[in-house]
Amino acid sequence: MYANALLNFIHSCPCPAVALRTVEDRLTVAGYKKADETAAATLGVGKYYFTRGGASLIAVCIPEAPKRLVIAAAHTDSPALRVKMGAGRVGAYVTVPVEKYGGLIPYSWFDRPLSVAGCVMVKAEGGFEERLVNVDRPLCVIPNPGLYAPNNQSTGATFNMAKDMLPLLSIGGGENDLLEAVAEAGGFSPENILSHDLILYAYDKGTVLGKNEELLCAPRLDDLACAFAATEAFLTAEETDTLQVLALFDHEEVGSSTERGADSDFLSRILSPFLSRGGQSFMESSLLVSADNAHAVHPNHPELSDSRETPLMGSGIALKWSASHSYTTDARSAAIFSTICAKAAVPIQTYQNRADIRGGSTLGSIADTHLGIPAVDIGIPQLAMHAAVETCARGDVTAMVNALRASLEAKITKTENGYKIG
Ligand SMILES: [Zn+2]
Repeated sequence: MYANALLNFIHSCPCPAVALRTVEDRLTVAGYKKADETAAATLGVGKYYFTRGGASLIAVCIPEAPKRLVIAAAHTDSPALRVKMGAGRVGAYVTVPVEKYGGLIPYSWFDRPLSVAGCVMVKAEGGFEERLVNVDRPLCVIPNPGLYAPNNQSTGATFNMAKDMLPLLSIGGGENDLLEAVAEAGGFSPENILSHDLILYAYDKGTVLGKNEELLCAPRLDDLACAFAATEAFLTAEETDTLQVLALFDHEEVGSSTERGADSDFLSRILSPFLSRGGQSFMESSLLVSADNAHAVHPNHPELSDSRETPLMGSGIALKWSASHSYTTDARSAAIFSTICAKAAVPIQTYQNRADIRGGSTLGSIADTHLGIPAVDIGIPQLAMHAAVETCARGDVTAMVNALRASLEAKITKTENGYKIG
C-alpha cells in the first residue's frame, strides 16, 4: 500500500537535514506549528513541532487533560560518506575526500551513482546564512579497484577507506569542483562557503521487485522506512486522550550522544513537564515505541540468525529483545505492545540474537534513560543492513504503519496489578 510513497519519501530525504525539511512540510500542511523548545512546558492543547540542530524533530499533538503519552520514534540518518574539507587530485582526476559516517559496508558503495546533500554555511552581510542543498543528480562514482587489484571484493579483502573509497568527480577539472556543484545547486557563490556538513548518498531511486512485487529495494531503508511509517502513523492517528508524539533523531548511526541525538535532553525537555504533571500512573501508562529495522533471516545465510525465532521478511514487524538491553524491550512493554498489535491485527515476530553473535543497538534504550516510561524496540525485517541499497518486504511497511498508528491511538491504563489496553 505504501510502496511508492515510501520510495518517493526516501528519494526526497537524501540526508537528515533534508529529511527534516520534508517532514516539516508535511506537518505544516497538517496544521502543526513550529514552537520554541524552551516554551514546551507552557504549551496547552494544540499541534506543535520542535527542531534541534537542523536535523532532529519532535512533534506533539496535545489533547485536553492527557492521560498518558505515546511516542513513535525513529532515526533519520543512515550510513553515508561524509565530505571532508578540501579536495583531492590524482593527475587529471579530481576526487572527493570522504570519511565513513556510521557502519557502512564499503564494497556496496562501489560503481553506483552518488550525489551530495547537506547543510552549507554561506557568508552573508554581518555573518552567514545556513543553506540546505541537495544537488539531486548523479555526480560522482567510487570505481571498483578492478579484477586484478589485490583488494578486489571477490578476494574477500577489506577496503581501506582512505585509499580505496575516494569518489571520482571529474576529469581535468579544478579542486573546487565539488563546492562549485554544491554552490550552483544552492544558488550562491562557492567563494562564500564558510563550512559544510555534506554527505554523499546513493542516488538510486529504489524499486519494487519480486515475482509478486512483494519486495522493496532502496537506499536508506534503515531507518527512513521507519521514519516514514512513524510520520504516516502520527499524521493519520485518531486523536484521543493520549498525548501523541513523533520523534525523529539524527546521529543514531554514530551513537546518539550529540546535542540532537536520542541521548540528548531534547526529548526530556519537551516531555518531562507532562510526565511530572501527570504523576506516576501517567508515566506507567505511557509508551515509547522505538522503530528501527531488524536483520531478517538471510536466504543464503540462515545460520547467522537465531535458530529458533528470527524474523522473516513479509511476516510482520519484529519485536527486538536483548539480554544486554541494547534493545529496551522487557516483559511488561512487550505485553503492552503485543496486546495493541493483536487488537489491531498486526502480525509481529520475535527478533533475538544468536547467543554467540553480538547484536546491534538502537535509540530505544538510550532515549528511555531520559524518560523512564515503558519502551519497546521494534523494526521492519530487512536484508543487507547498512549496504548502499537494502531490501525489505512491502507488506511489512504497511504492518509498521499500522502498528505505530495503533500504539498512538491505544488507551493504555496502568491498573493495580497490570494493564488495561483500550
Ligand atoms: Zn537503524
